[in-house]
Amino acid sequence: MDYNRILGEIATEVEPLRGEGRLPEYIPALARVNPDRFGICLLTTGGERFEFGDTGERFSIQSITKVFSLSVALSLIGEELWQRVGKEPSGSAFNSLIQLEIDHGIPRNPFINAGAIVVADVLLSSLPSPEADYMDFLRRISGDQTVDYNRKVAASEREAGYVNAAITNMLKYYGNLTNDIEDVLRFYFLQCSVEMNCRQLAQAFLPFADRNRRFEFGNVSLTYSQVKRINAIMQTCGFYNDAGEYSYLVGLPGKSGVGGGIGAIYPCHYSVATWSPRLNGKGNSVMGIKALELLTTYTHESIF
Ligand code: GLN
Repeated sequence: MDYNRILGEIATEVEPLRGEGRLPEYIPALARVNPDRFGICLLTTGGERFEFGDTGERFSIQSITKVFSLSVALSLIGEELWQRVGKEPSGSAFNSLIQLEIDHGIPRNPFINAGAIVVADVLLSSLPSPEADYMDFLRRISGDQTVDYNRKVAASEREAGYVNAAITNMLKYYGNLTNDIEDVLRFYFLQCSVEMNCRQLAQAFLPFADRNRRFEFGNVSLTYSQVKRINAIMQTCGFYNDAGEYSYLVGLPGKSGVGGGIGAIYPCHYSVATWSPRLNGKGNSVMGIKALELLTTYTHESIF
């Protein structure tokens, strides 16, 4: 497949969308990034890299971190996790509170905020040094020791994090958090604040696509079947209330974040990361989704 030519075509075709969408104003530090960026990086399981645009510039991975935190939690406590979090698509906004009350404090899935906050609680209870251990995993899986948290972004989000604080309080009320509310929130925001560029993100998603190598990074290891299941949850829940539309348009398991990034995989073939900060009304990158839609359209490659 001539991915080089295809990425070039995609870049030309998404160009008119550059001004469309908005930055996430509820996170002050992210509302200030330069919105006029677009990058795409594709890594094949055979070791080739194809890229276009701003692939070396770091951005806040935000909710994409939920794929990594779920991986660590499953590696630590396995199936037990599903007693505290569901695996059904929510059909609601990523920060919705409504279902949490209806479901008595059991979040619908680990990729909405409520679910990821429970996962953060699991990591806090089970990792010997949660902050350092989580970062160690991210550096190993992205193959880059310079990957790091952005503590300013985490603090900015905490300051204005009223909805996430409400979610965390409700989880605590229903007995679904072991640790102190403030500690869980702080760790959750820190996980969201991690910065990567498209190259590092594509590398960090490659193990979810590469089914021939063992998923093993330091103390975090997953079985073939666990990776398959994480991919399934990406497909059904990775884009919140945009998951159906994303599936319809793209057809690759993936995960988005309000920093404008998307990580996706074509199982057994490639991983791909896109970044463009302007978001649609559901918090997903406008240019990123279009680029992935064109990728599966032009290549005729998707899981469907
Ligand atoms: N840190 C963001 C939040 O909790 C993550 C949301 C997202 O990327 N969709 O609101």
